[in-house]
Amino acid sequence: MTSTRGPLLYEGKAKRIYASNKEVEVLVEFKNDATAFNAQKRAQLEDKGRLNCQISACLFELLEREGIPTHYCGLESDHWMVVQRVEVIPIEVVLRNVATGSLCRQTPISQGTPLDPALLDLYYKDDDLGDPLLTESRLFLLDLVSPESRQEIETLARRVNAVLTPFFSGLNLQLVDFKLELGRNAAGELLVADEISPDTCRLWDMNSRDEKERILDKDRFRQDLGGVIEAYGEVCKRVQGATPKPRNYR
Ligand code: 5GP
Repeated sequence: MTSTRGPLLYEGKAKRIYASNKEVEVLVEFKNDATAFNAQKRAQLEDKGRLNCQISACLFELLEREGIPTHYCGLESDHWMVVQRVEVIPIEVVLRNVATGSLCRQTPISQGTPLDPALLDLYYKDDDLGDPLLTESRLFLLDLVSPESRQEIETLARRVNAVLTPFFSGLNLQLVDFKLELGRNAAGELLVADEISPDTCRLWDMNSRDEKERILDKDRFRQDLGGVIEAYGEVCKRVQGATPKPRNYR
């Protein structure tokens, strides 16, 4: 049975979520909207939705093959995906393999410092509050997760990093850091949700030594470097060249 698009359930900065004809599944439309700095900077980037949808599909399938549960069910069209309906945990999980971005703005750690083991940072997912960094005490004070869930989240995020880092490295892409969103399905299973794309990952081209040229992710948009879609296209080409064609939803 193919999926039927039902009513719009939620519109985010980069995606729209629609009901489907199955209670346990929803449809995700990847938009061409680019936003940064809590949506203070905005643009329309032709083809971004399709590229992020295709890259995410390939990466979700890679994770699934490695035994990591995700919300992904299949592609519905070039910029639409069918996913399991989950209750999203309001935490942004960031894993950092190399110091850059907010870590270097907020601490004296130098740009480019390797972080081994990867640094795990948790942020409270709330645009009005600017997604603040959480301490462990605040995490439990806000009753966002139980101590068991907190451990489960870290274990899952580190498993994702352990799969994605060598995968990207094989494509001559350094996975500098990335953000994950996690949710629980109706059965209570913890799943990787949202998307995994150059919007949510920092990826540096290992073929380039130039500090700006090597950036193949949303930092090109954040820093006004130009060539955003070309960079996303390059990531898509390399990822698709190393993974099977994503399945169509049936
Ligand atoms: P930073 O904390 O350095 O700004 O971001 C760390 C990593 O998480 C980067 O790969 C960045 O793209 C991702 N990230 C953090 N917060 C967000 C967010 O709200 N939206 C998106 N798309 N990515 C985020």
